[in-house]
Amino acid sequence: MTVVLLALDALDAGLVEHFGVAEFELETSQQIETFAHAKDMPYTPEVWATVATGLSPEEHGITGSGTSEWSNPVLELASQFTGRLNESTRGTLGRFVRDKTGEREQIGETDAETIFDRDGAVVHNWPGVYDGSDLQRAWDLMNAIAEGMPKHEFERELLGLGAQQFGWTREMLNHDVSLIGVHVHTLDAAGHAYAEDEEPLRRIYERVGRFVDELVQALGPDDDLLLLSDHGMRTSFYGKEDEEGFPASHSWRAYASSTTDSVPADVFDVVDWIDEHVSHQTVSGERIDIDEEQLRNLGYI
Ligand SMILES: [Zn+2]
Repeated sequence: MTVVLLALDALDAGLVEHFGVAEFELETSQQIETFAHAKDMPYTPEVWATVATGLSPEEHGITGSGTSEWSNPVLELASQFTGRLNESTRGTLGRFVRDKTGEREQIGETDAETIFDRDGAVVHNWPGVYDGSDLQRAWDLMNAIAEGMPKHEFERELLGLGAQQFGWTREMLNHDVSLIGVHVHTLDAAGHAYAEDEEPLRRIYERVGRFVDELVQALGPDDDLLLLSDHGMRTSFYGKEDEEGFPASHSWRAYASSTTDSVPADVFDVVDWIDEHVSHQTVSGERIDIDEEQLRNLGYI
């Protein structure tokens, strides 16, 4: 019995409905609560470290203060406008941003206990917890398209990266593991790039939906999948812009869906959900059932 925890960055509850991608709607689905700490809106490494630890950024130590998804505030601001600019203006802005961008800061990793410390758990990449290099690759692609990388190259690289992550996840289902964790940045990168470009973003949602379906098809009868996001994405074509803020900034519409009869209601509740669904199983699927008396006799308590 294996639980897959699939972190689909920026999967937006409103856009799931707007685009009608049924593959994101498993047995139980709902919009969930998320939070902002260092910034006005949810910040990716902070939220994913909270998902994995159940702790606040003060407690797990991964915060956005002093770091930016966009290397520096100039680039972050530029990301909100690049969609509205023509190619040559984008290129000029890109060079300006490149000149102003110094050495990139690394994403930290928490020292706190995480859900991936449990017996039989495997994790591929998870912001703030384990191996931020895939997230850095996705951020590099976001920077590249802001500097004028052709869309077909951006999509080829971005979906290629996502395909590797989904492929690894499917392979892990063939092994004796209790929990599989993977973070996929495809929808966040595409959401920033296509916040004013409805059809390309719809295509990316549909493509990622097919990745999810392939994963669902690979689940065994006792396996479960929880997919969730850290926030959504504001776009020019969904929601009211005056209420929603700038397209290409993060929205509050985080989302969760699972193959079971429940989902966590809040990003802080994921640890409990995981405990409930995997903690009493050993890797081989046998229930651990040791009573207090035995533990006392063995000298553990
Ligand atoms: Zn994010």
